[in-house]
Amino acid sequence: MGKLFIVSGPSGAGKSTLTRKAIDFFPDLRFSISYTTRPPRHGEKDGVDYRFVDEATFDRMVEADEFVEYATVHGRKYGTREKDLKELLSSGVDVLLDIDVQGAEKIAKRIKEAVYIFVLPPSIEVCRERLKRRGDISPEELERRVAVAIEEIKKIDNYDYVIINDDMEDAFERLKSVIIAERIKKDVLVEEVKKIFNLQEG
Ligand code: ADP
Ligand code: 5GP
Repeated sequence: MGKLFIVSGPSGAGKSTLTRKAIDFFPDLRFSISYTTRPPRHGEKDGVDYRFVDEATFDRMVEADEFVEYATVHGRKYGTREKDLKELLSSGVDVLLDIDVQGAEKIAKRIKEAVYIFVLPPSIEVCRERLKRRGDISPEELERRVAVAIEEIKKIDNYDYVIINDDMEDAFERLKSVIIAERIKKDVLVEEVKKIFNLQEG
């Protein structure tokens, strides 16, 4: 069974940038592809960044209880399909999930053994700047997202690790450290050690 890493935090914190870097860096770490009703951004591919579906399809999946969690984020629906996630984890690979703060809260009620990583901007001013730079939102929407970010940051107690994303390379080093440290925990390696040293039970 693979380990599940949940990268979460306010919009504009740098989750998807960090997630992409981690997926490129660790060959045995897979990205869990979410379903969304939002249209693709420039350069995004269906089945790679997201599975882009229409409202009716998403609602049908909700009805059929296919999502381990789903949430409406800034007016669009996003969800993690339970079957996709289970298949990935049971194939033995570690999985990285990039989800919003509400989604992380919901999944925490069902999956205790996941690693919860909170990504934060270094300040509200920087958060605003990054959202603005990414484009495609009006000034009103920008301020609304900043207000939501402040509320979300209060959820810090739901997380195991915090990455304040000041400098990207630095923040990525910290994310790598979390992944590596979690992979060398005693509980992860105990069976392998028993095999290596031919230890008997008892
Ligand atoms: P999220 O997925 O959390 O909404 P993104 O990864 O899309 O955030 O990042 C938001 C914007 O901020 C993007 O334009 C990204 O390139 C930029 N960004 C992210 N992290 C940093 C950083 N450490 N320094 C400068 N710009 C960053
Ligand atoms: P974006 O539209 O910028 O790619 O993502 C918007 C927000 O939706 C981000 O905070 C991202 O983490 C979140 N998100 C992406 N996939 C999921 C998902 O499957 N479930 C939940 N709850 N949030 C998601």
